[in-house]
Amino acid sequence: MTSEVETATGPDRGAAPTGTEEAVTTFADLGLRAELLAALTRLGYEEPTPIQREAVPPMAAGRDLLGQAATGTGKTAAYALPVLQRLPDDRPGRDPLALVLVPTRELCIQVSEALHRYGRDLGARVVPVYGGQPIPRQLRALEAGVDVVVATPGRALDLVQRNSLRLGGVATVVLDEADEMLDMGFAEDLEALLDEVPEERQTVLFSATMPSRLDSMARRHLRDPLRIQLAREMPVEGEAPRVRQTAFVVARAAKAAALGRVLDVESPTAAIVFCRTRDEVDDLTETLNARGYRAEALHGGMSQEQRDRVMGRLRGGTAELLVATDVAARGLDVEQLTHVVNYDVPAAAETYVHRIGRVGRAGREGVAITLVEPRAHRMLKTIERVTGAPIHVERVPTVADLRARRLELTRAALRESLLGDELERFRAVVDTLTDEFDVVEVALAAVKLAHEATTGPDDDEEIPEVTLRPERPRRDGDRGDRGQGRGPRERRSGGGDTARLFIGAGRSAGVRPGDLVGAIAGETELRGRDVGAIEIAERFSLVEVPEAAAEDVIAALKATTVKGRKVTVRRERPRP
Ligand code: AMP
Repeated sequence: MTSEVETATGPDRGAAPTGTEEAVTTFADLGLRAELLAALTRLGYEEPTPIQREAVPPMAAGRDLLGQAATGTGKTAAYALPVLQRLPDDRPGRDPLALVLVPTRELCIQVSEALHRYGRDLGARVVPVYGGQPIPRQLRALEAGVDVVVATPGRALDLVQRNSLRLGGVATVVLDEADEMLDMGFAEDLEALLDEVPEERQTVLFSATMPSRLDSMARRHLRDPLRIQLAREMPVEGEAPRVRQTAFVVARAAKAAALGRVLDVESPTAAIVFCRTRDEVDDLTETLNARGYRAEALHGGMSQEQRDRVMGRLRGGTAELLVATDVAARGLDVEQLTHVVNYDVPAAAETYVHRIGRVGRAGREGVAITLVEPRAHRMLKTIERVTGAPIHVERVPTVADLRARRLELTRAALRESLLGDELERFRAVVDTLTDEFDVVEVALAAVKLAHEATTGPDDDEEIPEVTLRPERPRRDGDRGDRGQGRGPRERRSGGGDTARLFIGAGRSAGVRPGDLVGAIAGETELRGRDVGAIEIAERFSLVEVPEAAAEDVIAALKATTVKGRKVTVRRERPRP
């Protein structure tokens, strides 16, 4: 039997209209211990996200849990905090008390960093182990003693088989991005690992999607789990605000530059930029000011007086941008606002709806802009479903776009001047110059000066274009002959051009499909699901990848190891 909980986007709680005070849950309300609360304050987290509100208390109480949540919802903290909360104060042993399994090396590092940051004051010992990193280093780290191991399944099993990772004391197992792990052919490894962990353990599974074979795996391994699901198709009641919704896909490192570019092209009268944490608010405000914008920070760590000052500057037009957390901006109403910017995809669709409700009122059209890191794109789809309005994914304006836009602004300003201003007093300047130059040349020089005076120097920084990873085809009918236990080897490759790559290691080197998918997903932008058919022969393997990514995959695999060895990687030679 399972119980169900729907998070705050559910029908009964709906989206509260902007400006109303909601019942606010704090991290302290979740019953977290003081050391964890201190860490969250230090990190600038102001309040729990919906998935955290729902998952933390039951998980901290030891309940099994099945959570459907994608990247960007705050799911990592949703399980990491209770895992840490449950660690006993006295931990004399060397073997882990909790095991977190994740599909890729990238996530492994991210999750262990998060656990480390949250668990600092508890002295939590967190060790990441993943394929691709030399084993001896991981052995040493494990031998030194560990509370929480974060691992990719293949490497975890490897270490278990060497008896370096002993799971007999594990009280909590978390499977994160479980759908990805299955997609990558890790089903058998997961089963084997779960068999190593004592039966009376707590088991928690997080996944963005719940394909049927994952559900059946959950039924076998979870005991009376609480199901938590972000409600999906819940259109917002009432009239949607008139808001043009746009998203830009950008890599994390290019976000500040991309924001600047978008703001330059959009030229808002006044905008709010939403960030997740206080630290992000402070950092971004500083960056924007350094780039020449008039930005003000607003977050929960500021006094009422400071906030009033900031709001005064925004209303009076001395500031054009407000950089804020949701908590700080709650109930805020600014007449002049034309744009709302989400510096990250919000953790819940409800939050998105609240944010964009601040523009597009009283019949005016507002603009909502969202910057999306490639991994968080799934959340965008959820938001689209909830708001019932499309979000157009656009390319970040290029340097050429920006220049064209700036020239357009200059042209408009000149036209206005020609139509309205008293220009006679400048005639003498033109007359004397036309003795020497053509009148068009004189005009060109004047335009140049006017342009440079109003727009500042051209910004030559091109922002790298990132594309969204393709959505996985729906696999609802994933039963019967394409059912459980099938690895990527049997999976058909998706549409589009694919390339076949030769990898100089095969069965004799112990290579399994999961190793190849793991290496590719860990080292490149591709996800497990992007990898097509895999053939493992005795001495080599063949892998299908999207043609567009083939060269990246070759370069990345050459730079890493497969089963601990450097291998030849190249395109498959066409057969004669
Ligand atoms: P995740 O969905 O776990 O990948 O988390 C997405 C991002 O949100 C991470 O950068 C977290 O540090 C951040 N985050 C998680 N929970 C909160 C919170 N309650 N407040 C602010 N930021 C958060």
